[in-house]
Amino acid sequence: MRKLGLRDLGPEELRGRRVLVRVDYNVPLNEDGTVADDTRITATLPTLRLLRQAGARVILLSHFGRPKGKPVPAMSLRPVADRLAGMLGSEVRFVEATVGREAEAAAGELGDGEAVLLENTRFLPGEEANDGELARHLAGLADVYVNDAFGAAHRAHASTAGVAEVLRGQGKPAVAGLLLQRELDYLGGALEAPERPFVAVLGGAKISGKIDVIEHLLPSVDRLLIGGAMANTFFRALGHDTGASLVEEERVELARTLLDRAGAKLVLPVDAIVAREVQAGEETRVVAREAIPEGFRALDVGPQTVAKFRRVLESARTVLWNGPMGVAEIPAFARGTEAVAATIAAATDRGAVTIVGGGDSAAAVAALGLADRMSHVSTGGGASLEFLEGKTLPGVAALTDRR
Ligand code: ADP
Ligand code: MG
Repeated sequence: MRKLGLRDLGPEELRGRRVLVRVDYNVPLNEDGTVADDTRITATLPTLRLLRQAGARVILLSHFGRPKGKPVPAMSLRPVADRLAGMLGSEVRFVEATVGREAEAAAGELGDGEAVLLENTRFLPGEEANDGELARHLAGLADVYVNDAFGAAHRAHASTAGVAEVLRGQGKPAVAGLLLQRELDYLGGALEAPERPFVAVLGGAKISGKIDVIEHLLPSVDRLLIGGAMANTFFRALGHDTGASLVEEERVELARTLLDRAGAKLVLPVDAIVAREVQAGEETRVVAREAIPEGFRALDVGPQTVAKFRRVLESARTVLWNGPMGVAEIPAFARGTEAVAATIAAATDRGAVTIVGGGDSAAAVAALGLADRMSHVSTGGGASLEFLEGKTLPGVAALTDRR
């Protein structure tokens, strides 16, 4: 399914037009209410600059937090408008309404190339319910819809799916923004036509949350490296004791089935860093995977595993990474994640396509200062997982098909 993108629109379709842009400005705030991390805002700047240069009248929509359908002052988008204005180097008006007279007036007063940010879509009960009337009101604000909120594209909400369907029904374009397009190109490219060898690295806390990803990736990958707590469930499937490690008992059988089906494609850790508690300052030991002592938890992959994963990654042409190799929040258990991140960055340097998905993995890569050395770091945690599971994202499905 190919969707129309922002670059497919001609200048006459943007100049002087009211363009409703759904972004994901669900950013962390400091205690004083200012923006603590503007990564998500930065990610939308290419789309906004293109629109402003084209003379579009930009109306920005986003959700923020979980106000559950009513106004919550602490979840207002006002601080975001201030930060965005600073980053764009021009005024971004903030309007304390999402639909209705005030919002319509603000949209109507925009000059070419100007921008306004409307209030949190989730202040309205119809947003998460994908209410038809709300979708029609939102659609009434615009001539063109641009979805640049990849992080919210797996939700069928009024501002992500409903409004696009209404506008399309009126013969108006609903297109992917540059960020959304980039996400779909990278993630879709890896799934559909990866340069080989194609190596996926999966980690994180739970196998249950990533089962569908494993199932969907297995047929297309050349190797699937497993780390994180997920590996423990596989250790159990191999018949090893896992001490006090995090294991999903009810998935051990499934892990066994996956091991059989995957054969040599699946590469498990051979050793682990263990400690009694998940906290800094604990005594740590390096042990073979079959020798996790009673009362100890496997909290990171060990050095032999790192070496093994590195050998596989060194020949990869496409790498997809989702989920840390250990409890990367604590330095003593972050070595495996650091080593994998550095190896993947080196793979990018020698021409491989490298993609990082998942909130904690992206945070780890950013903390290591390696984000710029990845081909693509996805801005959507849940959305990237659902995409990798092969699911259709409602926010994408609702856009205009390309002919
Ligand atoms: P992502 O957000 O990148 O998709 P996840 O949310 O699936 O990643 O997993 C990240 C979490 O997994 C982190 O909180 C990390 O502490 C935890 N984790 C990773 N390895 C282990 C382990 N061996 N034991 C316990 N928790 C782990
Ligand atoms: Mg996570």
